[in-house]
Amino acid sequence: MRNDGNTTLDELKEDVRQLCLRKGWGVEGVQDVQHVAMAMTVEMSELLEHFQWLDHEDVVRLMEGNDPERSALIAEEFADVMMYGLQLARTLGFDITGEILRKIDIVDHRPPKAGSPKR
Ligand SMILES: [Mg+2]
Repeated sequence: MRNDGNTTLDELKEDVRQLCLRKGWGVEGVQDVQHVAMAMTVEMSELLEHFQWLDHEDVVRLMEGNDPERSALIAEEFADVMMYGLQLARTLGFDITGEILRKIDIVDHRPPKAGSPKR
């Protein structure tokens, strides 16, 4: 079974392209990047809905793995966000790993911002 440990981001980009082809979305499996970026934000909002109005105890329960139903709903919306992100990266031709590593290096080497979270 495929998982994070045995699947590359390039393979996932291609999986999403194949889905678009099967569904007839976009031109030859490539959707308009403006639409993809907007859809990614909509999906992020759907993810956030699962956090709306939680109190601290609910968040702790979630973080400790004691709310599997909510966790599954969050994972599904996370997948939607990531699928659009993979499409965006493929269409615009950027390497996700390279961009994340470049960003980590930037954050590592900049002074902490005022009010940065300590936790
Ligand atoms: Mg969704």
